[in-house]
Amino acid sequence: MTSSAERRLGDKIVRELYRDPDYIDDAVLVEYVQDIWQPLLASARARGDLQPELDQRFAWEILMGRDRTINAFALPGGYFGLHLGLIGVVTSRDELASVLAHELSHVTQRHISRLISKQSAQTPWLIGAMILGALAASKNPEAANAMIVGGQAVAAQNQLNFSRDMEREADRTGFGVMTQAGFESRAFVTMFDKLQQSARLNDNGSFPYLRSHPLTTERIADMQARQPAGVSPSLSSGATLEHAMVAARARVLSNPGVDALRAWSADADSKNLAGVAAPRQAAALYGAVLAATRLRDFIQAEGLLGRLTELTRADARAARQTRLLAAELALTAGDARRASSMLAATATGRPDLFLWSQAAMRSGQANAAAQRLQTWVATHPRDAGAWQLLSVAHATQGQALRAIRADAEAKVIQMDYAAAAERLKAAQEQVRSAKPGAGVDHIEASIIDTRAREVQALLREQALER
Ligand SMILES: [Zn+2]
Repeated sequence: MTSSAERRLGDKIVRELYRDPDYIDDAVLVEYVQDIWQPLLASARARGDLQPELDQRFAWEILMGRDRTINAFALPGGYFGLHLGLIGVVTSRDELASVLAHELSHVTQRHISRLISKQSAQTPWLIGAMILGALAASKNPEAANAMIVGGQAVAAQNQLNFSRDMEREADRTGFGVMTQAGFESRAFVTMFDKLQQSARLNDNGSFPYLRSHPLTTERIADMQARQPAGVSPSLSSGATLEHAMVAARARVLSNPGVDALRAWSADADSKNLAGVAAPRQAAALYGAVLAATRLRDFIQAEGLLGRLTELTRADARAARQTRLLAAELALTAGDARRASSMLAATATGRPDLFLWSQAAMRSGQANAAAQRLQTWVATHPRDAGAWQLLSVAHATQGQALRAIRADAEAKVIQMDYAAAAERLKAAQEQVRSAKPGAGVDHIEASIIDTRAREVQALLREQALER
């Protein structure tokens, strides 16, 4: 399979995943994962594992799923899936890096295309449907049969499993990629331990990762043998306060039921909390503040936030996470002014910008929000979440045309061309029916005409692929 055919197949699959209700673009989690992912990509490039042609052709994009299951997987075309359940169980960023480096290596070593080539009798369309079916099956074993005709899901899962040789190669290449990127080598082994332990503790099918990447004694021994002499098995230096807080966020967001939120929120009440290590305290407090915020129990959340602020004061990265959480709490509680005052208007991070913009829109500063978001999308044109927020900012300003166009751009990025075309048509309709002297934004109107033509071309291309 050529790399461009594989990319088209991957596009087909993720087009559906973007519309999955479990797809989540949480600015804090996305930023944390990107801070691990980008160094891994750079390392793979520097080592020559990631060839320039593939680098350019493929997406190299991670989509996160709200699922509680412990899973990460590579898809055709350089797309990757990462479930919040996995972020929730790793104890350091290095452990997360070990899993991502392994998946990355399946793609750079062209394992996916080799698997698909074996299926050459099937059309790419059918392979795409099979992969989507297998993904649904890994989430919910009961629903799987309803999702896919003829019980193909199980067959697909078996046929698309990597061979032992591929697993070994992904381990070895991934190990090189992650250590060269500066992550701790022993995380590869502690991650294996963790997966084994968790699997022993609950064998309820929530470990699709192990089903698709069986942990053999050979794999474990291989990675242990690669550890430099004298490395102590003690707690990883990546087990930071910040990591513990982000993992707690993943756990809360993956389990948004009221009972679970109540349990999180009560977690920090435990009198024993003072005796445990700081990262565990930070995790319990962060999870409790977030859960209480979601339950709209703002008094409880404020009280716990005070303790978290105290605990994280001396650690700049952890203190920033506390500040973001405090702003999220203020915003949810309806105090937009206080939320925006907590976030430096000059902060360059995506979570800071997103929270600040939402706060600004709700406190009569939609113009400022639109300006900052406009600057952001100029340098991050593929950020669908930012376009979506920009659309809301324009709508709040009363700039209907710009709002519709920004919304259409978000749809284009997620490859929902039909929805984008519909939005742009509605915008053109508005321009046409505007009364003389209504002050139509002619520059915006001409951008919309151009984009409408381009999106129509993308739609035609998409129709031909069927
Ligand atoms: Zn694997």
